[in-house]
Amino acid sequence: MITIKSDREIELLRIAGNIVYQTHQYLKNYIKPGVTTKELNDLAEKFILEHDAYPSFKGFEGFPSAICASINHEVVHGIPSNTKLKNGDIIKIDIGACYKGYHGDSAWSYPVGDIDDDKKYLLYHTEQSLYKGLEQIKPGNRIGDIGYAIESYAKEHNLGVVKELVGHGVGTSVHEDPDVPNYGIKNTGPKIKKGMVLAIEPMLNFGSPNIVVCEDEWTIESEDYSPSAHFEHTVVVTDDGYEILTGVLLNGKK
Ligand code: MG
Ligand code: MG
Repeated sequence: MITIKSDREIELLRIAGNIVYQTHQYLKNYIKPGVTTKELNDLAEKFILEHDAYPSFKGFEGFPSAICASINHEVVHGIPSNTKLKNGDIIKIDIGACYKGYHGDSAWSYPVGDIDDDKKYLLYHTEQSLYKGLEQIKPGNRIGDIGYAIESYAKEHNLGVVKELVGHGVGTSVHEDPDVPNYGIKNTGPKIKKGMVLAIEPMLNFGSPNIVVCEDEWTIESEDYSPSAHFEHTVVVTDDGYEILTGVLLNGKK
C-alpha cells in the first residue's frame, strides 16, 4: 500500500533525511586510502546515535552493520570490514537513519584518492541519471516515468542498469511501497501524488548489468567485476515537483 504522508510525518522525515545527509558530509572527510570500512561504519553509527537517531539498516532483515560499504565491483550491501581502502578505489556508502520512527535513506559513491577516467565517467553519469529520474517526480506523472528516464540516460552513456534492485517508498519502514525500478515504460505504474516519499537509487555498472550475490549472502557484485556506482536520495512529492530530504542542511539551506 502506498501511503501519503501528513505534514507532521513529512517534518519527521525531513529531520531523519537531514541526519542522513549530515552523516554523509561528516563521513566523507574520512574517506581516504588506508581507512577501513569498519572504521567508517563506526564513525557513522556514533554520529547517527549522537543525533538522537539510530541506523536504519542495523538488524534490518538481519544486516549486521550500521551502513553498507561497497567497493569497486561491489554494487550494494557490502558489509563493513577490516578491508582498507586503496588509492583508485570507489566506495559506495549507503546510510539510513531513523528519527522518532521515521527513516531517511541515501547512498553516495565516493572516489578514494585519484581514480581512473572510467571510474570518473561512471560516477559522473550515475549521479546525473539520479537527477534525470528526479526530474520526473511531480503529481500526475507515473512511477514508470522515473525508471524510463534513468534507463534512457544510462543507455545513452553505455552503462548497465542493475534491474534486480530498485528504489522504494520510505516512511515508518525504510522500505515501503511502491517499488521504483531504474527501468520502465513511460506513463505506466502507480501515479505520483503529493505527499508520497520515495527513495530513488540508480545502480549502474560500467560493464554488464548482471549481478551475483557473494558468499556472505549480503554483498552484491557485478558479474563481470566491472565497477559499479550508486546514488540515492529520499524525496517528498510537492505540489509541482519534489523536495530532497537527504540533501539539505538542518537550517534548511542548500
Ligand atoms: Mg539506501
Ligand atoms: Mg534505498
